[in-house]
Amino acid sequence: MELSVVIPCYNEEESIRELHKRVSAVCHTAPVSSYEIVLINDGSRDQTHEIMRELVKTDPHLVIVDLSRNHGHQLALTAGLFHAQGDYVLVLDADLQDPPELLLPMLERTRAGIDVVYGKRDQRAGETLFKRISASLFYRLLSYLSDTHIPRDVGDFRLMSRRVVEEFKNMPEQHRFVRGMIAWVGFRQEAFSYQRAPRFAGETKYPFHKLLAFAFDAISSFSIKPLRVSLLFAGFGVCLAGLMALYAIYAHFSDRSLVTGWASLATIIAFFASLQLICIGVIGEYIGRTYIQVKNRPLFIIREVLRGSA
Ligand code: UDP
Ligand code: MG
Repeated sequence: MELSVVIPCYNEEESIRELHKRVSAVCHTAPVSSYEIVLINDGSRDQTHEIMRELVKTDPHLVIVDLSRNHGHQLALTAGLFHAQGDYVLVLDADLQDPPELLLPMLERTRAGIDVVYGKRDQRAGETLFKRISASLFYRLLSYLSDTHIPRDVGDFRLMSRRVVEEFKNMPEQHRFVRGMIAWVGFRQEAFSYQRAPRFAGETKYPFHKLLAFAFDAISSFSIKPLRVSLLFAGFGVCLAGLMALYAIYAHFSDRSLVTGWASLATIIAFFASLQLICIGVIGEYIGRTYIQVKNRPLFIIREVLRGSA
């Protein structure tokens, strides 16, 4: 059995050597006939690519995929999966938050015919309380909105069989939520609980605005329920309008003047105008994504691919 390890890297100069060392050590002891380590350089602006070029000269197991610019984590990962050739593919983060050593017990599970062994985070060491709360809220919202069962607290750390990777490669989406797409593929998938380590070095490449965009990519990829929210608002508006009509009729016959009600009228108008804008915004997000998708551009552009030679 051949194994591929796919690792997207963006400005990870401090981690790359240690990463290479630890992943190589694990692959040496793994019960596989051969292995390759596919490092994707996602347009790093530090020394990441230079270090990769150095390493590839000494290690025949290395494959370096250099993207033309920063494409973002999910597309870099996709580029890596397109280049992986193994019968099983392990996906890792470059910052060593997902311990490569877990490859061995994960491989053990595939013996029983499991297609996807995905890492489920038990504990998030070194992550802020804010990140933990927002992640938990996000996964809850996503599982409520989505019809596909997307497991909670699961990142991109997973071991996949060849047939899953082949199905994944057939998916042309531009806005990718890889963990959800893999869940959508199906076959036999199983969770593997582990403790997520703190980052080895450097800082997170996901600032808040990227996380927010990522969250909406995930939701819009797997649900159209937000589009139906306007129907909910509409129902609420109709009820409120009905009550007000009843009140107006009552006021008319009981000789009460309605003129004094201008403040409540103004509030109601402003309230519904905002609801409408929210709905238009949500619809706009979906239309924008549809627009980008129909342009049908390639998912990523590769500058060069280097394969190690001894
Ligand atoms: N990454 C990438 N391109 C990007 C941002 C991140 O390839 O534009 C890589 C990064 O190098 C790391 C992985 O994606 O290997 C996960 O990023 P990070 O560790 O910053 O995310 P976090 O663990 O904080 O969610
Ligand atoms: Mg990380």
